[in-house]
Amino acid sequence: MKIAIIGSGFAGLAMGIRLKEAGFTDFVIFEKAAEVGGTWRDNHYPGAACDVPSHLYSLSFAQNPNWSRQFAPQSEILEYTLGLVRDYGLDPFLRLSEGVENAVYQPEKQNWRVETSKGVHEFDLVVAATGGLSRWSIPEFKGLDLFSGKVFHTADWQHDVDLKGKKVAVIGTGASAIQVVPEIAKIAGSLDVYMRTPPWIIPRNDAPISERVRASFRRFPKLLEARRASIYAGFESHAIAFFNPKLMVIPKQQCLAFMRKSIAEKELRDLLTPDYLPGCKRVLLSDDFYPAIQKSNVRLVTQGISHFNESGVVDDLGGERRHDVVIMATGFKVSEDVAPFPVQGRYQSLQEVWKERAEAYKGATIAGFPNLFVLVGPNTALGHNSMIYMIESQVNYVLDAVKKMARNAWKTVDVRPEAQRIYNDEIQQKLNGTVWESGCVSWYRTKDGKNTTIWPDFTFKFRAMTREFDEDAYFLERAR
Ligand code: NAP
Repeated sequence: MKIAIIGSGFAGLAMGIRLKEAGFTDFVIFEKAAEVGGTWRDNHYPGAACDVPSHLYSLSFAQNPNWSRQFAPQSEILEYTLGLVRDYGLDPFLRLSEGVENAVYQPEKQNWRVETSKGVHEFDLVVAATGGLSRWSIPEFKGLDLFSGKVFHTADWQHDVDLKGKKVAVIGTGASAIQVVPEIAKIAGSLDVYMRTPPWIIPRNDAPISERVRASFRRFPKLLEARRASIYAGFESHAIAFFNPKLMVIPKQQCLAFMRKSIAEKELRDLLTPDYLPGCKRVLLSDDFYPAIQKSNVRLVTQGISHFNESGVVDDLGGERRHDVVIMATGFKVSEDVAPFPVQGRYQSLQEVWKERAEAYKGATIAGFPNLFVLVGPNTALGHNSMIYMIESQVNYVLDAVKKMARNAWKTVDVRPEAQRIYNDEIQQKLNGTVWESGCVSWYRTKDGKNTTIWPDFTFKFRAMTREFDEDAYFLERAR
């Protein structure tokens, strides 16, 4: 079976490794960039680090005893992905600097025609591992084109722009902003942080991991397993409060206590106190955002942005702020317009099918798109645990599908529309009454309020559900 994997982040690499180890070696990994690593290659802003402890945020079959900190910095995670390519011999399978431009299902041939920046290929099966956070979002601020200073997104960090002594603005206070703000605050002349909605923040308690501890992990791999399992179990237990928002009073009190401990001035605390429940938007982890926001060169701006002019931002009340550099920490396009590239299925394009909202069966397959599998697809993202766990579950599902296809000589598998509908109705039902539906605007939801992003259950349930490819939910075809 000829297989195309598109994207070489954690998901694409894990898929390649598992296929190779299972003896399926006729595959390629297309990567539009010149290097592997996905989000960890692209997001190299100062302070970028994972907010899930590294012993869990890594592949279960490629654990690393050598993480230098509890929460590894971006450079180390990127190094880890490069190590996967090396250790699992993925080099011959990589097609770097070859972006996929479109994919068309060919019913007469029962395969996919994939057009890349370098040519046209045919594959029996396509695995889209393009990630949820690969297209950054810059709001359409009026007058932004008039601004004479520099503007860039956190996921497109311009290291040649020197921020030392400059008047810098950061727009947004999400997961990226709270990591980058403390770093900019150390060097900028002034830093204005534009906050539209305050985030809930809990301490990260990051710390270096001593060489002695690392040596014990190397010597006793079971210790590493145990550490991983205990982080997983701790995070998984938090899920209960996400499903029963009444229980969120406890984390809410913890967040408020952390804020009181970190910020003496009540007025600032009031500005930074969200009016929604923790978890409705992603809860952020930081030890240094609250101290940074209180530095003398930093100002929290809560006035809305009306427009830009040549010298900076004009707020809703007409106040002007001059900036040399504006950094958009404004997130990614996640729930809208999410097809990764033009994909033409049996009857319709994915763009059309997902116009209103993205839906898939088990986050992986879409009716009318035979032999197309999506990793980190609709309703597989998490608010409470490590995405790598979900990725590995999905990879397992695809691998089992490939094995069964080979064993049974099925040429195509196409999920039954009713299986997909029932699955998605259940997801939406499960979301009812959870914290994600408790009243806030978040990137988890589409404009019409449907949550197409979050997996609203325990992750071990997703693991159980994806352990085997369930062919009963599919139309199966042999070669014609
Ligand atoms: P984000 O969470 O979507 O935050 C975007 C920020 O920009 C929000 O504060 C948002 O305000 C603000 N914003 C957007 N449009 C605006 C506008 N027109 N005017 C004013 N403010 C505006 O994006 P992110 O911080 O890049 O994080 C995205 C996701 O990436 C995270 O949720 C997480 O999954 C992942 N991430 C993970 C890590 C990690 O450590 N593992 C680090 C960074 C990011 P509102 O809240 O009002 O919309």
